[in-house]
Amino acid sequence: MNGIAQMVGGDPGLMVLVLVALGAAGVLALFWWMARSTRKRFKCPGCGEVVVVEQMSAKRCPTCGSSLGPGNDV
Ligand SMILES: [Zn+2]
Repeated sequence: MNGIAQMVGGDPGLMVLVLVALGAAGVLALFWWMARSTRKRFKCPGCGEVVVVEQMSAKRCPTCGSSLGPGNDV
């Protein structure tokens, strides 16, 4: 807290603004990271089809039924 207070010259209103901006950026980064980590693209080892999997809900290729291993992500 002291670091931010010195950075904005002790203005409490500006400090709140900086904290809110930092918080919003943190939340956005978290959402982006979650959206990115839950969506994976797998290339099917059987037919070569690229399958987008959300939260590992589909473990098999919808086209040919081959299992999508963790080594097939693209
Ligand atoms: Zn397939």
